[in-house]
Amino acid sequence: MKAIKIAHLYPERMSIYGDFGNVLVLSQRMNWRGIKNEVVSIEVGDKLPKDIDMIFIGGGQDKGQVVVAEDLMAKSSQIKDFAESGGPLLSVCGGYQLLGEYFISSDYGQIQGIGLFNVISKATETRMIGNILVQSEKFGQLVGFENHSGATEFIGRAQPLGVVKKGFGNNPDDKLEGVIYKNAIGTYLHGSFLPKNPKVADWLIRQAIKYSGQNIKLKELNDELENSARKNAARKA
Ligand code: GLN
Repeated sequence: MKAIKIAHLYPERMSIYGDFGNVLVLSQRMNWRGIKNEVVSIEVGDKLPKDIDMIFIGGGQDKGQVVVAEDLMAKSSQIKDFAESGGPLLSVCGGYQLLGEYFISSDYGQIQGIGLFNVISKATETRMIGNILVQSEKFGQLVGFENHSGATEFIGRAQPLGVVKKGFGNNPDDKLEGVIYKNAIGTYLHGSFLPKNPKVADWLIRQAIKYSGQNIKLKELNDELENSARKNAARKA
């Protein structure tokens, strides 16, 4: 069995509000099922291995985004090829913004993104902060915590991750949250996101296994705790 390899991009600069927990969840849910896996941390200047099966990038302050943006651009074609060929990817907040066309920050001007997602983001005067509740066609109810001043909008065709029931999501106006393109997800949900939304975690794992060329059926796990945590968070939102 080939180990499922997860690339965690820029954990030093881009992993806030519990984002690191997403990688722990992905790895642990594979461990529980006896699926070999490996997490490689990729910082600025590091090579992105060719044999990765999943990519994760979390959120960061505008300054962190400036620091990693150029390096991300250097890895742009590898990341885009990966996603275009069905590789699973999860990006949160600042990471999500950098996978769009650009993010205009109030302090640093325009930060160029790699354009995987048909979105642009701009800093606003509003801090969109708090618990957020989303209804997703694909995953059902999703919960998280958001904290951003950047507002994201679609340019051209894009599919949202879900519809906002409480909170802000992509921006204060259109009630849409995140984006999903092939098997790549962008979202504003920190929290961490995956511990309380195990359906998304297992979906990502399934895509990673498929991408690795293996055929492993995922055993059901007892998600009582995870689901009651989600319901609790939904109640709070
Ligand atoms: N700096 C970005 C914003 O405020 C991203 C913040 C984050 O990743 N939480 O919009």
